[in-house]
Amino acid sequence: MCDNHESGATGHFVPAYIHKHIAESAAAPDKARQAALRTLSVDQDFRGQRVTASETAAAPCAADEPGVLAAQVPISKEAGDEARESARATLKTDAKIREQRAALIGPAATDEPHDHLAAPFQLKRLIYDAKGSGNLRGTLARAEGAGRNTDRQVNNVYDAIGITAMFFYTVFGRNSVDDKGGNIVATVHFDSKPDDQLGYNNAFFFGTEFAFGDGDGIIFDYFTDALDVVAHELTHAVTKYTSGFTYKFQTGGLNESISDVFAALVEQWHFNQTAAEADWLNGQSLFPVAIRGPALRDMANPGTAYDDSILGRDPQISHFSQYNDDLSVHVTSGIPNRAFYLAAIGFGGYAYDKAGKIWYATLTDSRIEAIAKTATFKQWADVTVDQANKLFGTGATVIVRNAWIAVGVLV
Ligand SMILES: [Zn+2]
Repeated sequence: MCDNHESGATGHFVPAYIHKHIAESAAAPDKARQAALRTLSVDQDFRGQRVTASETAAAPCAADEPGVLAAQVPISKEAGDEARESARATLKTDAKIREQRAALIGPAATDEPHDHLAAPFQLKRLIYDAKGSGNLRGTLARAEGAGRNTDRQVNNVYDAIGITAMFFYTVFGRNSVDDKGGNIVATVHFDSKPDDQLGYNNAFFFGTEFAFGDGDGIIFDYFTDALDVVAHELTHAVTKYTSGFTYKFQTGGLNESISDVFAALVEQWHFNQTAAEADWLNGQSLFPVAIRGPALRDMANPGTAYDDSILGRDPQISHFSQYNDDLSVHVTSGIPNRAFYLAAIGFGGYAYDKAGKIWYATLTDSRIEAIAKTATFKQWADVTVDQANKLFGTGATVIVRNAWIAVGVLV
């Protein structure tokens, strides 16, 4: 199957291969396996919609058709009739969900941002509550300036969006994700199949807005509780409005890495951590207290974030010699992730001061935008070296070049 762009056209935080492992794991409780299957189905459906809506997205291969992937995931023999019935029900409801998604593409895409020059920076957050449905923009739960309410998930995503937007503005002068002061719209308690009370295990970027599930409470906790998850998804929007990177092959690996890099920087900025003090982990807060410990990605040492019978083993790679086009973008992103980590450690101090500014200057470089569909790790690396020189002089180019040499992208 073409896993190189699985579940990716909508920038899901948790890659499909993790859900697949949970669904097949004899160690996972029945309910967790069902939730994993259901999440795979929902994610595939949304990705299909995005592919339909976007000219730049890769055409789906047959195995990626909504619902088909879930049908191909074998439920382990230990799974009860209930799990098999749940999988069948999931497939049956896909057609209905596709209709709903098609209706949503219009309003999401027509959310025109304000004029850049007429709009000095200000936060404009709109947080909606899907109330367990699959409706983006269900009920408006908290608009910009409104006080905290009694819904922790609404408040958390409101705050995390605020921190992320302030980071991009304070450090890089970026005015909202589109740099035009546009609204940031998010939906919480998203779950397109609430009747079975399994919980939706993901967060994603869809068109111009964001959705966050509540998790199954067994393997995954609320997706709004993790600042880096929210920052990761918002950065997918920044990428859309800058490099415009597509979501496959090396360009897709860069797209994923950019979201991990800036998510890590948002956390480090907010918690006042230097590069040496930071943990360089993504998604650590996604897991419930009972199984807390692993993270989803380790930028310092890709491939070591987790290794257990339920989640499987972290397949991320960290050197270009391991790369091939069949790998998931969530796997290949380990290479540029580690390069960024090495550059940040090489500079010392706060990672966003130098390495972060070099990466942001690269992301907004017209040379990068010109190769939005075909950018390779080497092309990106060459521009980071050039931007290092422009921003911080020749000493900086040595640090950045050495980081890319260490991961096998430059020689
Ligand atoms: Zn992502």
